[in-house]
Amino acid sequence: MGRVALVSGASRGIGRGIAKALAEAGYTVAANYRSDDGAAASLAAESGVKTYKWDVSDYDACVAGVEKVVADLGPVEVLVNNAGISPDKFLHKMDAALWHKVIATNLDSFFNMTHQVINPMRQTGFGRIINIASLSAFAPSYGETSYGAAKGAMVSFTKALAKESAAKGITVNAVAPGYVDTDMVRVAPQEWIDNLVKDHILVGRIGKVEDVARCVLFLAADEADFITGATIDVNGGHLMR
Ligand code: NDP
Repeated sequence: MGRVALVSGASRGIGRGIAKALAEAGYTVAANYRSDDGAAASLAAESGVKTYKWDVSDYDACVAGVEKVVADLGPVEVLVNNAGISPDKFLHKMDAALWHKVIATNLDSFFNMTHQVINPMRQTGFGRIINIASLSAFAPSYGETSYGAAKGAMVSFTKALAKESAAKGITVNAVAPGYVDTDMVRVAPQEWIDNLVKDHILVGRIGKVEDVARCVLFLAADEADFITGATIDVNGGHLMR
């Protein structure tokens, strides 16, 4: 049995790609999701990963959910915090409920999930925590005050937890994707995507979920133990920091 990996937000998109890549590489994978039972069932059928339904913005749900994963598969050794939403809206049109939903899903979820695994990882002396941030952490678009704030905070969370955890064999890193072909991006008109690629993405294409999954696999490996507190850009040259 390979190391146990838990991926949040894995029924669709980038999380699904990460769950599949980890399973193919021999990890024992738990795939969390919020609502899409059909997509979760097809992921389980395709890849053999076990799926678990709960809302990562809900602390108590994370306590119960991770307990179930550990009871089924054993202690979580690799945590990929991927679940996120991006309901873009200019601040002057945003209500407090939407602000809190984006922050709860994209930022509180990091605490909610990581808090369940950090002590067991410290006790065993091994852990990999990989946080899916975004190019928007560094260059937010219009309408991304909440999303950009959450993703920027995620990068600081990554560095702070990396400091606290390095002596215990736990690495904490972030991956910052640029535009990746998932439902989140497909809400934009094709013409807008084509122009974005032409004007901004040096490699001449939008990202694939596999581009991000490959980076996560690299960071999850036992041999990646000298990399911590880093944020790796996966954006086709869209933004060079
Ligand atoms: P998608 O919208 O395609 O998929 C989102 C996934 O997250 C779904 O599986 C969804 O589950 C799950 N999810 C959403 N909210 C919750 C929740 N509260 N609890 C548990 N699961 C939840 O998104 P992407 O794959 O595009 O994005 C994945 C991550 O990558 C996000 O953090 C996003 O911010 C980040 N990212 C994406 C980029 C892109 O271009 N696509 C660029 C940069 C970063 P369900 O459908 O079952 O509700």
